[in-house]
Amino acid sequence: MLHIGCHLSSVNGFLAMGKEALGIQADTFQFFTRNPRGGKAKELDPADAAALMALMEEHRFAKVIAHAPYTLNPCSDKPQTREFALMTMADDLQRMEALPGQYYNFHPGSHVGQGTEKGIELIAETLNKTLKPSQTTTVLLETMAGKGSEIGGRFEELREILDRVELSDQMGVCLDTCHVYDAGYDIVNDLDGVLAEFDRIVGLSRLKAIHVNDSKNPFYSHKDRHEKIGLGSIGTEAFGRLVRHPALKGLSFCLETPCDLAGYAEEIQLLRRLAEAE
Ligand code: FE
Ligand code: FE
Ligand code: ZN
Repeated sequence: MLHIGCHLSSVNGFLAMGKEALGIQADTFQFFTRNPRGGKAKELDPADAAALMALMEEHRFAKVIAHAPYTLNPCSDKPQTREFALMTMADDLQRMEALPGQYYNFHPGSHVGQGTEKGIELIAETLNKTLKPSQTTTVLLETMAGKGSEIGGRFEELREILDRVELSDQMGVCLDTCHVYDAGYDIVNDLDGVLAEFDRIVGLSRLKAIHVNDSKNPFYSHKDRHEKIGLGSIGTEAFGRLVRHPALKGLSFCLETPCDLAGYAEEIQLLRRLAEAE
């Protein structure tokens, strides 16, 4: 059974997102914890969070994904920027306890010329100051396209971060199809090979979620521009093999394509059909 949803707006609160997901036959979804460019989070309503948890349980949702603002950079060369990332992540993780046991996904960051090793060290340092033994949320590192000085374009970099995190049992990985394809992992012609490499370097048990996006750019372009499913360089057939792959069974699949709600509903239908095919 494929668990799939899409990115939703959190402006109307948690329960509203759950209902919106149900309306498009989704059984998971993703939302930003606050304005994607950062800024203060909205006051959290515990009753609203509890109502979403009840809806998710009733409708057997897979875990949902809270996405950190993408401007956070825990490996910036500026101490204030790193401090802001730390404070925001700590606050987000505390708030996530209102939705126990879900995922919190973030972009590892850009080392801005300090080098990959330094970047990895700073990211791990932020996580070690942020993760708490008592938290129920699993924190996911997202695979990146390797644009500019981005960390996370190579599976080895994610492995190195995980190796340096003390509470690494609370960590996992979210694989973004557009990002890995742009980074040079050929999920179109060799999905098995890419997953075997992921398993060897990171471990498939770490893989918790999949961002399902086609790419506007060719293989290995290091660009990161998402396209609607089937309209980009990855193509519908490759997504069919992805949603049917036994190693990915049960994960939270989430669309981040340039779609409105009706467009997402169609993509969810398409991927559910592909998952049942063969
Ligand atoms: Fe992301
Ligand atoms: Fe993504
Ligand atoms: Zn992206």
